[in-house]
Amino acid sequence: TMGPSELLRKTLLTLAADTRVRDLIERAPVSRTVVRRYVPGAYDTDAVAAVAELRATDRRATIDHLGEDTTDRAQAQAVTQAYVSLIDLLAAEEHTHGGWAEVSVKLSAVGQLLPDEGAAIALENVRIICAAAERAGTTVTVDMEDHTTTDATLAAVRELRRDYPWVGVAVQAYLHRTEADCRDLAAAGSRVRLCKGAYNEPETVAFQDDDEVDKSFVRCLRILMDGAGYPMVASHDPRLIDIATALAESAGRAADSFEFQMLYGIRPEEQRRLADRGHRMRVYIPYGEEWYGYLMRRMAERPTNAMLFVRSLLSR
Ligand code: FAD
Repeated sequence: TMGPSELLRKTLLTLAADTRVRDLIERAPVSRTVVRRYVPGAYDTDAVAAVAELRATDRRATIDHLGEDTTDRAQAQAVTQAYVSLIDLLAAEEHTHGGWAEVSVKLSAVGQLLPDEGAAIALENVRIICAAAERAGTTVTVDMEDHTTTDATLAAVRELRRDYPWVGVAVQAYLHRTEADCRDLAAAGSRVRLCKGAYNEPETVAFQDDDEVDKSFVRCLRILMDGAGYPMVASHDPRLIDIATALAESAGRAADSFEFQMLYGIRPEEQRRLADRGHRMRVYIPYGEEWYGYLMRRMAERPTNAMLFVRSLLSR
């Protein structure tokens, strides 16, 4: 049986996939300030301005060019180009040196789901992005999408790491498989972003219960913190942040051997508090026209965000 917030979550995730609803909402007088809280703007210059603002309080950034489910090759190339110009712009503003600003890439946005050669096209495109990042002195992290793409994404990351060992990858604690994936990934230099997971997944592959997801998150955290890699703890959950801090300490980790990550606009005071206490804190900044799917997922995670949004739709 579903509780009300679970029902809302499933409904929002269904709406997120419905293009008619998207068109309706995109034409509605949505308050710009609500969208802007989570998405600083449509252009790379907006993302770069957000980076500068975060750096003023010692926060790092990873930037996501919004757009997923790319349906043709030209679009995949356009997204790739957008990343390359973004990286060049970040480098020109001196945000890439030392990895203060890096990028996050969804393989589906650079062609993974194209028929026949999707995996090869995505790999070719993400390589172009990695080459630009290397020139600029920074890194790339590959986001994790729904479970049908997990194997392909991990395979692409293994391949990329032959040339670019600093490529990071996200793993999702809600999947049953992730503990084993963490064991495989906890090698020297391996940048691994642990998150709960944002997609609507069946019980055959994913824990459904919040408590089970949290327990899995802690098991994965332990493996990553005890391992030789570079854990990136992506959560706004205060309990998990405390546990991560304690596990890092008992593993004898230095402050620069792991980091916390949160989303732009979510718990900004906590972001600053962690940075002030000497932790590495990185903020995930999405930018671009395609804010709809992104915001729908964020709202699905958090019913109060949905209420904020609904209210902004009703008032002008
Ligand atoms: P939740 O379960 O959402 O929240 C737990 C607790 O955190 C709440 O009870 C509350 O105490 C606190 N909290 C949460 N939000 C707020 C708020 N707005 N204000 C105050 N308190 C709050 N998912 C993927 O599937 N693939 C990815 O590649 C991916 N990359 C990510 C990268 C980053 C940097 C981050 C932060 C998330 C990413 N996610 C990704 C999303 C992630 O999987 C979760 O869906 C999302 O982070 C929500 O889970 P949570 O751990 O923050 O905790």
